[in-house]
Amino acid sequence: MKTALVCGSSGFIGTHLVKKLKSEGYEVTGIDLKWLEFSEGLTDHFEIGDLRNSIVVHNIMQDYDEVYQLAADMGGAGYIFTGEHDADVMTNSALINLNIAYWAMKIGVKKLFYSSSACVYPEFNQIDSNNPVCIEYTAYPAQPDSEYGWEKLFSERLYKAYQRNYDLDVRIARFHNIFGPEGSWNNGKEKAPAAICRKVAEAKEWGEIEIWGDGEQTRSFMFIDECLEGIQKLMEAEKSFDPINIGSEEMISINDLVKMVARIANKNVIIKHIDGPQGVRGRCSDNYYIEKCLGWKPSYPLELGMKQTYAWIKQQVDKNI
Ligand code: NAD
Repeated sequence: MKTALVCGSSGFIGTHLVKKLKSEGYEVTGIDLKWLEFSEGLTDHFEIGDLRNSIVVHNIMQDYDEVYQLAADMGGAGYIFTGEHDADVMTNSALINLNIAYWAMKIGVKKLFYSSSACVYPEFNQIDSNNPVCIEYTAYPAQPDSEYGWEKLFSERLYKAYQRNYDLDVRIARFHNIFGPEGSWNNGKEKAPAAICRKVAEAKEWGEIEIWGDGEQTRSFMFIDECLEGIQKLMEAEKSFDPINIGSEEMISINDLVKMVARIANKNVIIKHIDGPQGVRGRCSDNYYIEKCLGWKPSYPLELGMKQTYAWIKQQVDKNI
């Protein structure tokens, strides 16, 4: 039986990853600052623990076959781009990664997955909402638009250094906006797909939906199941690569995403544009490199994923009324 440690196992991606690993017969250990919010825990062993603390990381680390490092201090635009959380985001996530890289190497973990982000890409390549450039090698010269992105770049480099100097087998993905059921939807850390689903679910017929900025900013969003498939393919590959995009190439403006969700909800809504943090003007995954390396790239249609996500968020909204 393969053994795995999932760091951040009560988070959005962690919860889904634990389910997948368990369904494939792994013995799974999880660690997180918090208990699971929306579903039953499936881990074989679970610990509440703070990964910023080196002793905690030392104690949980064993010579696992696979470690999945998903723990980070993060959230959507309302958390990352206001500047209010910059020091916390950088300190908390950097400490977690420093501890995990060190103890994984020391104790002899066989393979480590690190979740980086599309936020590493330079702002100057994402000014044109119709033509953003997010090809892996364009991350340098670096100029991420958030401290969250700078910390991710630092930690990518940290894990690669452990790979070079200590032969730690590291697999790094740059996720592009992963969404799906059982993620943050109303706690200030939710991302655009969840926030829009919530706003549409709460709106009356012809009600107003507030959107930050002019709504013409573009993004691509990837459904959680396909993200897990990408992680698995990266972990199963015979060798390690440079950090690789795991994201969809289906780009959409935020205005069009609202229209899509309204269509799914079978509701008419009015979009009201207000000031708010927005991030870069355009961002979309470039999947040339992943296809070249893994012979696979994501293809699941956005609308199908949004239907499943809307159905789950509508249930949560109805429960909270
Ligand atoms: P999430 O916030 O839902 O999960 C992160 C988990 O880490 C949370 O459960 C949190 O409690 C835990 N955590 C934070 N600090 C901790 C600490 N000190 N000790 C122990 N646990 C701690 O985020 P997610 O959406 O599941 O993302 C997982 C990873 O993927 C993160 O590293 C994130 O930066 C990265 N990522 C996610 C997306 C996305 O769209 N979801 C995009 C790019 C990158």
